[in-house]
Order: sequence, then C-alpha cells, then structure tokens
Amino acid sequence: MPILTATDLVKTYPEEERPALDHVNLTIEPGEFVTIVGPSGSGKSTLLHLLGGVDRPTSGQVQLYDTDLYQLNETQLAIFRRRQVGLIYQFFNLIPSLTVAENITLPSELDGKPVSEGQLALMLDQLGLTAKRNALPAQLSGGQQQRVAIGRALINEPAIVLADEPTGNLDQHNSQEIMRLLHYANVKQGQTVIVITHDPQVAAQAQRVMTMTDGHLTEGR
Ligand code: ADP
Ligand code: ADP
Repeated sequence: MPILTATDLVKTYPEEERPALDHVNLTIEPGEFVTIVGPSGSGKSTLLHLLGGVDRPTSGQVQLYDTDLYQLNETQLAIFRRRQVGLIYQFFNLIPSLTVAENITLPSELDGKPVSEGQLALMLDQLGLTAKRNALPAQLSGGQQQRVAIGRALINEPAIVLADEPTGNLDQHNSQEIMRLLHYANVKQGQTVIVITHDPQVAAQAQRVMTMTDGHLTEGR
C-alpha cells in the first residue's frame, strides 16, 4: 500500500489566476527516495506543503496510507505533521539562542517525547556534530547549520521526510554531505524521503525523479 497518494490535487492561491498545482497525481511507496525537479515558481514547494499537511488544497486529496489528510480537523492535522513528517528547508530556521543539542531536541520535547542522551549522542555522531553540541547556530558554518536542521527533522524518526531545496544554500561539498544524510535516513532507517530541487545534479541522485512544470507533475527528467 502506498504511503502517500495525491489525487487530482489543485492549489490556486487567492488573487492568482493560474493554479500553482494543476491536477497533480502522485503515488509514493514506503521507503522510496524521490526527487522533484523543476524551475523556480513551477509549484514544487506548494506540492511539498500539501504532502506534509502544511497547507490545504483548493481541491483534490492527499492520503497517508488510507487516511485522507484534508478530512482531518486542524488539531488532527497538526498531530499528523508532528508525528509523521520531518520538514527541512533551504534556510535552516534554527533558533539562534539555543545550542545545537537544544535545536535538535526541542521540537520533540515540546511534543511530549523527551530525547534520551543516547539518542541525541547517536544523532550528533551521525551528523558529525558531536564536538559542536553546545555551540550556537551563529558559530556554525552553513553546512553545519543544515545538518542541525536535519537532526531536528529526523530525531523523532518521522515516516516521511520532506526537504525543500535543502542544498540550495550550500556549496557542492556540503550539498553532497546533506544528500548523504538523507540517503542514510532512507536506506538505514527506511524513511520515505522526498527532496525538491531546481538542481538537476541533485535530482539525479534519486532512484526516482519527477519533473514539475507550470503546476504539472510528470514522471522522469
Ligand atoms: P517552486 O517551489 O517551484 O519555486 P512554488 O510552489 O513556490 O514554486 O510557487 C508556485 C506558484 O505559486 C508561483 O507562481 C508562486 O508565485 C505562487 N505562490 C506560491 N506561494 C504563494 C502564496 N503564498 N500566495 C500566492 N502565490 C503563491
Ligand atoms: P563545513 O564545510 O564543515 O560546513 P566550513 O569549511 O565552512 O565548514 O568551516 C570550517 C570550520 O570553521 C568549522 O569547524 C566551523 O565551525 C568554522 N566556521 C565556519 N563558519 C563559521 C562562522 N561563521 N563562525 C564561526 N565558525 C565558523
């Protein structure tokens, strides 16, 4: 059974004439690693937000297994987001006054799921940030900040990892490192990963590549 299914998804923003998403259909199996490539403004972020329960579509459905996300009320949708989805953005959105360790653990703790020292230590090790656990975001390079954001998204082991241009702000070396961490989450933890990118080289690193053009999604490059 697919983990995520989008059916006839349409999103038209208020005041906009053309839909940002125009009847998108998509099926993703558990454990897939998918990249969605396309130019700026083609609708990639809009799709990612709808798959993650962040925004509501104008029409159409998104299903997580057999739950229709947009039949849920706001409280239920918020629970879905916190429990099932890890979101990673281009701009890392770290809290400047919190340390690396605190940035990684706070969202999970706010959700009532304390992170054990063992879990945190393992995550810091995987991220290569053990020596930086007490550093503040301003003391880190861009690549390191993005690794913190990845740790924050992955610490409570979400079934689905959604990354919006996670390498958009990084050089090639750091981009490779971020993709390696996302592949690790996919292969070792079995997490389903969807990465959106405008960079064909980044897109090519997935088993499955889809292309977004003017709100239309097609299979392949
Ligand atoms: P991409 O991620 O591929 O750059 P987006 O999904 O961000 O594309 O945008 C798709 C289209 O929707 C663009 O025309 C964009 O201007 C428009 N759009 C995105 N977000 C909003 C918004 N909050 N309000 C109005 N229009 C938006
Ligand atoms: P990486 O390639 O690991 O992301 P860089 O090569 O950019 O990191 O940085 C090398 C070292 O310099 C890192 O250990 C990092 O902590 C430090 N560093 C980078 N940028 C900053 C900064 N703005 N402030 C303080 N230290 C920094």
